[in-house]
Amino acid sequence: MNPRVILITGGNGGLGQAVARAFLTESPANFVWLGIHSRRDQADKLAAEHSDYCCCLPLDVTQPEAWRTAIQQILSRHERLDVLVNNAGSHQDSLLGTMPASAWEGVLATNLDSVFHGCQAVLPTMISQRGGRIVNIASLSALLAPAGQTNYSAAKAGVVALTQSLAKEVARIGITVNAVCPGYIETEAIAQMDEAARRAAQASVPMRRFGRPEEVAVAVRFLASPEASYITGSVLKIDGGIL
Ligand code: NDP
Repeated sequence: MNPRVILITGGNGGLGQAVARAFLTESPANFVWLGIHSRRDQADKLAAEHSDYCCCLPLDVTQPEAWRTAIQQILSRHERLDVLVNNAGSHQDSLLGTMPASAWEGVLATNLDSVFHGCQAVLPTMISQRGGRIVNIASLSALLAPAGQTNYSAAKAGVVALTQSLAKEVARIGITVNAVCPGYIETEAIAQMDEAARRAAQASVPMRRFGRPEEVAVAVRFLASPEASYITGSVLKIDGGIL
């Protein structure tokens, strides 16, 4: 059986790595492409550990041309692409009154424009295959809209709406599009929190702890699996019970 071919953006980050590991340890085997941006140390390490089943490719998700080149590279090797995980993202928190326009534009570009470009880049292949899986990593901020995150919340809420709308467009072709909304997950993205903020955040979680990247990764793997064939347009929160 040919391996399923999977592309994960932000493949050097905490969640991207965990999602990649979840696919790489699945049986039957998958082939995982890790999109990399400015850093690649972790992605290179993982690709070296699984050299027959994992490769890195440069992919700035805000650039449509970078998407075209990346998809061509994948198709020239496998002639198919089964799963796209739109995982890359960034945040730059500040109150709206003092938010620089660059923080608005940058966060919208990495979290929302990226998903538009990514879906548009993979759809021709998935349509010609009459099947595919897209999993978008949104955030609990899309649903909670915390103060200080107007840019990030708006972008991730956009990802949720895009997911639901696109799911309807492609459902009859056998392509599913789903989103997950993680709460606090232990990655570098939340490592900058000071101790007091960390304690307060943990106290707000009914499970009284942050999630582990692997706890999100298994849900992504499931939504991308052949077994999840009747699940589309879904938004799954993974937050230890916050909402
Ligand atoms: P990390 O900061 O560890 O990873 C983010 C990844 O996105 C990095 O690999 C980064 O690459 C990449 N990235 C940023 N900008 C671009 C770009 N323009 N093109 C390509 N890649 C880019 O964060 P997480 O692993 O925690 O986050 C992964 C996803 O999960 C994000 O979408 C985030 O919003 C979401 N999320 C995370 C939560 C958490 O608590 N950790 C909670 C809710 C959602 P590089 O470093 O090379 O720039």
